[in-house]
Amino acid sequence: MKLFTSKLLPSTLLTHAFTCRTGGNGRAPYCSNNMAFHVGDHPAVVTRNHLVLAAQLQYRHHVLATMKQLHSNRVMVVSTSNSNTLPPECDALITNQIDLPLMVMTADCTPILLYDPDAHAIAAIHAGRAGAFQNIIKNSITMMAEHFDSKSENIIAVLGPSICQNCYEVNEKIYEEAKHLRYDNTVLQKEDRFFLHVNQILVQQLQECGVAKSHIEVMQHCTSCEHHTFFSYRADSGTTGRQAGIIMLRS
Ligand SMILES: [Zn+2]
Repeated sequence: MKLFTSKLLPSTLLTHAFTCRTGGNGRAPYCSNNMAFHVGDHPAVVTRNHLVLAAQLQYRHHVLATMKQLHSNRVMVVSTSNSNTLPPECDALITNQIDLPLMVMTADCTPILLYDPDAHAIAAIHAGRAGAFQNIIKNSITMMAEHFDSKSENIIAVLGPSICQNCYEVNEKIYEEAKHLRYDNTVLQKEDRFFLHVNQILVQQLQECGVAKSHIEVMQHCTSCEHHTFFSYRADSGTTGRQAGIIMLRS
């Protein structure tokens, strides 16, 4: 299975990766490495994709924390796997538990992985336009500080494959909302069309929280431009699979 990783995250203390659509077992429109059970793909195929990922990253496949994502700014602290229960309704998971992988799923939205090497705490965050407008970044970093005494200047942040500004046209109402939130600088206007740069908002928010520029990596892969490699909700017209961002503290 092809995986994308960041050089900013140390491999000796941590396991992390971003999956893509290739190398799995599924058929169209979920071909082939879909990680989500809720999109209409065959459950046995999704399970098999999960098993392959777990074997490749060396974690026990039944020990995993996932979420029912709702484009909110809700953050949950997790201390045990939720593989056998309903996943919590939220868009960010944080933990300081060893050997507990956190997973975020996306298809154009931005998967964000955070790591504080001093506090030994991690986060997996789902942020599309709605999550960015609601500043889920700030909530996640605040919760990491409250629960694990994490300090933002120590945090490393990686933004995984997601839709680029050129591929992310929005309507005027969303442009007005961006303006209201003082994110005008992240909108490109071409005549009467508007294009939103979600990752620019997220990077701004990370820096406003105190994360150093040198601690932030934005992976330069657009899920829509590269939709043969990644699942893209927009490029695939809504019916598609999900790739995963995954992070785990190692024992
Ligand atoms: Zn693009």
